[in-house]
Amino acid sequence: MKQTLPLLTYAFDALEPFIDTQTMTIHYSKHHQAYVDNVNAALEKFPELADVELTDLIKDLNRVPESIRMAVRNNGGGHLNHTLFWELMTPGGAKEPQGELLAAIEGAFGGFAQFKDAFATAAKTRFGSGWAWLVLTAEKQLKVVSTANQDTPISDGLTPILALDVWEHAYYLKYQNRRPEYIEQWFNVVNWTVVNKLFEENK
Ligand code: MN
Repeated sequence: MKQTLPLLTYAFDALEPFIDTQTMTIHYSKHHQAYVDNVNAALEKFPELADVELTDLIKDLNRVPESIRMAVRNNGGGHLNHTLFWELMTPGGAKEPQGELLAAIEGAFGGFAQFKDAFATAAKTRFGSGWAWLVLTAEKQLKVVSTANQDTPISDGLTPILALDVWEHAYYLKYQNRRPEYIEQWFNVVNWTVVNKLFEENK
């Protein structure tokens, strides 16, 4: 299925001062666009895959022909990860989860503060490029995990409900080497309404 860059529902400067305008612009228009272009270029070589959902390929990478498997893993994963990431941010949203999701977070981690610590630790300690995630397991348990590069938990049978990009391209222009500060500030723009929705749909 031909992939396209999703529309952003907010302006490039909407997440200031936490995510700066230049980073948002380059991240979305250049980095994400490149993942889209590269996964399309790889899949064009196999017209028999034209009708298959990208998500289904990423869930089961073994069905992707070996010659393009790494390109699909990296660029298809990059496309799906960023599509979710943009949706998970918003200017001026609720600062914390509510209702059943909050209760589930408290049950799994001991409290919202403890969850934030676990998530931030996963994001800080991911060596090199990657992502931190809050996922639902197949048993419907909440869990914090991290992945390398553009790998996504959906390849491991997990369902992401929160995602943080810790590639340097996501923060270096504003935060330089201060990844922990980026992680802390990013919590100001999390769209808990969307996280709640993903939890409700998948719990
Ligand atoms: Mn990125």
